[in-house]
Amino acid sequence: MATLADPATQFTRLPHPAPMAVDARGAVLADPGFGKAFTDHMVTIDWEEGKGWHSAVIGPRGPLSLDPAAAVLHYAQEIFEGLKAYRLADGSTALFRPDANARRFNASAQRLAMPALPEDLFIAAIKELVRADADWFPSVEGGSLYLRPFMIATEAFLGVRPAKTYSFIVIASPAGNYFKSGAPAVSIWVSDYTRAAPGGTGAAKCGGNYAASLVPTAEAFARGHDQVLFLDAAEHRWVEELGGMNLFFAFDDGRLITPPLGGTILPGITRDSLIALARDEGLSVSEEPYSLDAWRADAASGKLVEAFACGTAAVVTPVGKVADRNGDFVIGSGGPGQLTGKLKDRLVAIQRGTAPDPHGWVVPL
Ligand SMILES: *Cc1c(COP(=O)(O)O)cnc(C)c1O
Repeated sequence: MATLADPATQFTRLPHPAPMAVDARGAVLADPGFGKAFTDHMVTIDWEEGKGWHSAVIGPRGPLSLDPAAAVLHYAQEIFEGLKAYRLADGSTALFRPDANARRFNASAQRLAMPALPEDLFIAAIKELVRADADWFPSVEGGSLYLRPFMIATEAFLGVRPAKTYSFIVIASPAGNYFKSGAPAVSIWVSDYTRAAPGGTGAAKCGGNYAASLVPTAEAFARGHDQVLFLDAAEHRWVEELGGMNLFFAFDDGRLITPPLGGTILPGITRDSLIALARDEGLSVSEEPYSLDAWRADAASGKLVEAFACGTAAVVTPVGKVADRNGDFVIGSGGPGQLTGKLKDRLVAIQRGTAPDPHGWVVPL
C-alpha cells in the first residue's frame, strides 16, 4: 500500500453500524464531566518500518486488538497529546493551535524513539474525527470536544529496542467546564517525589510520566490537597510544575515569572499562549528559576500577589495555598486573583471566537 502523500484524501471512511441514540447522546452532552464519555468514532493510522504511515481509517470507536507481547504493554513506548475543539459563537467549530500540538507530538516521538508523524497528517486526522463527531459538542456553557491523539508501539517483541510497528489513534471526549462554578483556588502539596530529572523524559508527553505521578498525587489527595507540585530533581529547591499543569507567579510590580523550559518541564501550549497574552497586556514576563523558599517569603511579604496553574483541560486555575512537610502558606487572599481571571478570560475569549485572534491561533474547521 502506498504511503500517505496527500493525507486528507486518503482516509478510508467506515460507516458506523450503531451510533449512540440521539436521546442518550443528549443526556451525556448535558453533563459530560471530563474524560468519562466518548464519541462514536476514532481515527487509526498505522506505521511500519520500511513502509511508513499507511492505512488511515476513520470508523466506529471500539476496542483495539493487540498482541499481549506488544511493546507498549511492556516498555511503555507511548506518547499522547490533548487539545480541544470549540463551537464558536457563530455555530462554526475551530481548533486552538493544533500545529503546536503536532510539533510537540513529534518532539515527544523523538524522545521515545518513535516515528515522526507529518504535521498535516496529525491535523487532518483530528479534522476527520471532529467532522464525524460534529454532533458531540456539549450543550453546556464552557463545553468543548476534548481530543486525545496518541501513539503506541504495537510490535510483538520482548527485546528492548524501538518497535518496528506503531499505531496513531485519535479519540474524542465531550468535556464540560473542568470546574463547575468557575475556577476555585486550589491547594497544592509539594511532593518529596521527583517528576523528571535532567536528561529524562520530563519534556515529553508520555504516559510513563503520568504513571510515575500517581503515587505522589494520591499522597496529595490523602493530605487534603487538590494537586501535587514537583520540585527539581537535583536540588529539590526549584519549582517545576504540577503533575499536568505549568505554573505562573504574579508580583505586585507587574512582573510575571514562569519556570524556564530546560528539559524537565513539559512545554505547555497554554503556558506559551499566556506568556504572549501577558506581554500583549504590557506585563513583563520572564522565564526564570523560582525557588520554593522565595515563593514562601514573597507570599509572606506580599510581593507575590497571585499564583496560577495552566493547561488545556482546566485552562487557568488559581493556586491559593501551598503545603509541604514544614507547614503551609497562603498566596494573596487565598482565593482567585484579578490577573489570573483576566488572563483566563482573554484566552478563553480568543478560543471561543468572542475576541479577535491577533496571533492567528484559531483554526476554523
Ligand atoms: C500537557 C501537560 C501540560 C500542559 O500543556 P498544555 O499544552 O497547556 O495542555 C503541563 N504539564 C504536563 C506534565 C503536561 O503533560
